[in-house]
Amino acid sequence: MGRILFFILIGIGIWYLWRASMRITRPPEAPGASRRGERGEDMVQCARCGVHLPRSEARDEAGRLVCRDNPRCLAP
Ligand SMILES: [Zn+2]
Repeated sequence: MGRILFFILIGIGIWYLWRASMRITRPPEAPGASRRGERGEDMVQCARCGVHLPRSEARDEAGRLVCRDNPRCLAP
């Protein structure tokens, strides 16, 4: 009985190590698959000042994307 338990534990240990090694050797992420979901959102460029900012911080002004809360951008 004790020997069976021993082999089961060995098997679990091997399986655990195998899984860990699979996790290490697997590429970190599929190209282009989930990067956007992890990173959040697109970066856009302001049409007025040229600053790059997240899409959610830009607003649409006459078809152009401009900064929403950038005081320096408001200056002509
Ligand atoms: Zn701007």
